Amino acid sequence: MARFIFITGGVVSSLGKGLASAALGALLQARGFTVRLRKLDPYLNVDPGTMSPFEHGEVFVTDDGAETDLDLGHYERFTGVAARMTDSVSSGRIYSTVLEKERRGDYLGKTIQVIPHVTNEIKDFIRIGEDEVDFMLCEIGGTVGDIEGLPFFEAIRQFSQDKPRGQCIFMHLTLLPYIKASGELKTKPTQHSVKELRSIGIAPDILVCRSEGPIPAKEREKLALFCNVRPDAVIAAQDLASIYEAPLAYHREGMDQAVLDAFQISPTPKPDLSAWEDVADRIANPEGEVRVAIVGKYTQLEDAYKSIAEALTHGGIANRVKVKAEWIDAEIFEREDPAPYLEGFDAILVPGGFGERGTEGKIKAAEFARTRKVPYLGICLGMQMAVIEAARNLTDLRDAGSEEFDHEAGKKRFTPVVYHLKEWVQGNASVTRKLTDAKGGTMRLGAYDAVLKAGSKVAGVYGGLNIEERHRHRYEVDIKYREALEAKGLCFSGMSPDGRLPEIVEIEDHPWFIGVQFHPELKSKPLAPHPLFRDFVRAAKENSRLV
Ligand code: GLN
Repeated sequence: MARFIFITGGVVSSLGKGLASAALGALLQARGFTVRLRKLDPYLNVDPGTMSPFEHGEVFVTDDGAETDLDLGHYERFTGVAARMTDSVSSGRIYSTVLEKERRGDYLGKTIQVIPHVTNEIKDFIRIGEDEVDFMLCEIGGTVGDIEGLPFFEAIRQFSQDKPRGQCIFMHLTLLPYIKASGELKTKPTQHSVKELRSIGIAPDILVCRSEGPIPAKEREKLALFCNVRPDAVIAAQDLASIYEAPLAYHREGMDQAVLDAFQISPTPKPDLSAWEDVADRIANPEGEVRVAIVGKYTQLEDAYKSIAEALTHGGIANRVKVKAEWIDAEIFEREDPAPYLEGFDAILVPGGFGERGTEGKIKAAEFARTRKVPYLGICLGMQMAVIEAARNLTDLRDAGSEEFDHEAGKKRFTPVVYHLKEWVQGNASVTRKLTDAKGGTMRLGAYDAVLKAGSKVAGVYGGLNIEERHRHRYEVDIKYREALEAKGLCFSGMSPDGRLPEIVEIEDHPWFIGVQFHPELKSKPLAPHPLFRDFVRAAKENSRLV
């Protein structure tokens, strides 16, 4: 049965709890243990699927079709363990389940209360699959003291009592602010945060303290004394040049050892960190730099395209180059010529997105990449825009567009080269959708197979003809236009197994122009860069004449 590590946060948000959890997962794996990571989010949305990327950053999609928090992306990138629907839950989901049960009469007339009904539901969630791994790491979103978070903190407190002694530990992440004037790292906010945690019955076993520099011995002892943890369980988490240094840095600080000590596991297996050392070396000593323009809509918040930024870094790791990604607001190209903005970039990426705003600019970016022969990777909406560009400029469909934009505008203006997908096949079942369906969870979501055309560029990239990639979209390129587009050199080189849904397009007479209907960035990892990103960065490197 699994041992449980609960990871909580205090003082301020955005300290990198997700990253610390993920890196700890990788360290435990490096010692030969199996892990699964899980996120419990206190907000009331049922899932982040309907939240704007500006609100919550990227929505991470799992193989089994859940729309989840972007921290699950960190978990996968560091541990390689594919996240599942049951690895992410919110208060909204918990409450809606409790209320459904109440309506069904499952509680047999009882008064429904936060304790025990809501907390029981949370505990049941934590327990899912507990026999499958050595360690289950559960991160609680938000910070201790948040009103919404209370049922989760109460549930993990109860959970640790339900389990035999020594089977659960608590790791608390805080901030040690540095006061320049006095040249000191301040421990008081951490003391208060731990006090808050203890007032709800949770005593942390390990403190992970974010700080700009190392923690001097005096502060470490003070933290240990006032927060009631052992001095070697105070782990300094200093700012890092790359997140992929985290496993090595936390290991040097003794995080994994402190965890094993807290569980009284001894003797402890030696870690093998060679793969992480290689990654750190490649990041620290690149042979050069390539510049990639990301032409998108949600450019103010980097987290909106978190997995894409990471996947580009992985492509850089594979090619031993630093990838400098620069975000350009697509709307600029609706007013101005893209050439002065895009010249000088070694490659162009148009990511996924929703709604019409900025799409004409993305079409311009695709045109620039096609005609100037700059490597282009179009992801989801970025593929759809590349197809529309080709339809408009290579065939006679001058008014080609996406039904998504007509639906949004409430009038018909375009020839729907990209149409609303109303029926598709998932496994052996057929799925149907209507335009009037509710927004939450109704897209074509999760892993689907695709079959690649032998001899195509993507077949070479993947090194095989059968792939499985994650999807999140409502609209689809209409196969009706395949012949006309292929006659002009835009090849449909990947299709759904039934041959009905275009999954990949590529331009034959171009150094590297590929559009994909799915999200390859979600499956890329530093220890296993995604083939499309690996090869896209290779093409950028070639274009930059670094090779
Ligand atoms: N808005 C487009 C669709 O729903 C593209 C979605 C995406 O880029 N993820 O099909």
